[in-house]
Amino acid sequence: ATPTAILVGTGRGAQLGIVIKGPEVLEDTRRADTIVLDKTGTVTTGVMALTAAYPAAGVTESELLCLAAAVESGSEHPIAAAITAGASTRLAAGAPLAASNHLPSVTGFSAHAGLGVRAIVDGLPVLAGRATWLATSDELAGHAVPEILAAHAERAEEAGQTPVFIAWDGQVRGVLVVADTVKPAAAETIARLKKMGLTPVLLTGDNERAARSVARATGIERVIAGVLPSEKVDEIKRLQEQGRTVAMAGDGVNDAAALAQADLGLAMGTGADVAIEASDLTLVSGDLRAVPDAIALSRRTLGTIK
Ligand code: ADP
Ligand code: MG
Repeated sequence: ATPTAILVGTGRGAQLGIVIKGPEVLEDTRRADTIVLDKTGTVTTGVMALTAAYPAAGVTESELLCLAAAVESGSEHPIAAAITAGASTRLAAGAPLAASNHLPSVTGFSAHAGLGVRAIVDGLPVLAGRATWLATSDELAGHAVPEILAAHAERAEEAGQTPVFIAWDGQVRGVLVVADTVKPAAAETIARLKKMGLTPVLLTGDNERAARSVARATGIERVIAGVLPSEKVDEIKRLQEQGRTVAMAGDGVNDAAALAQADLGLAMGTGADVAIEASDLTLVSGDLRAVPDAIALSRRTLGTIK
């Protein structure tokens, strides 16, 4: 393509809400045959809400909510925002029933990327996160998740939601369910991408069942779930080793390395700064429809490959 065509393409991109890092980016955009989509914050809005709370036998709902909100208060994850906000709404509504309303002291907070969080709340070690992670912790070694809680969690996952297990005093004490919403334009965008000859792949740290449910709702056939933040980049390499030219769209801190590894990285403008820095293209408003727009634009600018 002539420099003029590229300049026009870059200008047209700006009009579409797409910021292009350099002219060479259009070439990679045109060649992409696979589009990897991060789930949370990319295909879904990433704004989570607390939808249910299931205390274990002998635990009250307000106890469960108080300790969960306390341990999550140090985390910046969307799950933490859902739990702290949801707990305070539910606790305020049930205030007359709550035994004590003091503010707990939280110390020794630590976040474990893609797994969960832990802190000491009023002297009690509390954990919140994935069941598989809790099971491997020192505090919980040998304690199984109560069957009734596992059943609630499974039902939530089937519905595309995410269960968060809460444990203290060496036992799983309850499960909270958080839910996200699929972006309204997601299904239409996936259909367009497929029509353009790209294979969509959903990549997430979330559980397999929730991921499948989102994939079903949006028309994605390939799902890679339960991936740790550090492993997302390996999944991109694996696809590249299979001979694919990979575009990836993501928004999170945990997506940055994978976005940089992809042949073409597309960051949601609504996402983390490191994700934007690692990417070739930024979709300013976080509108997914800009993904096929960007690919169509580069194909028009450079002419279609034959
Ligand atoms: P995604 O790849 O979809 O953006 P993450 O890698 O951020 O997801 O998180 C993966 C999983 O790790 C979550 O679904 C959750 O089970 C667990 N997790 C991460 N952070 C937290 C937290 N603050 N509290 C509870 N669970 C968490
Ligand atoms: Mg994300």
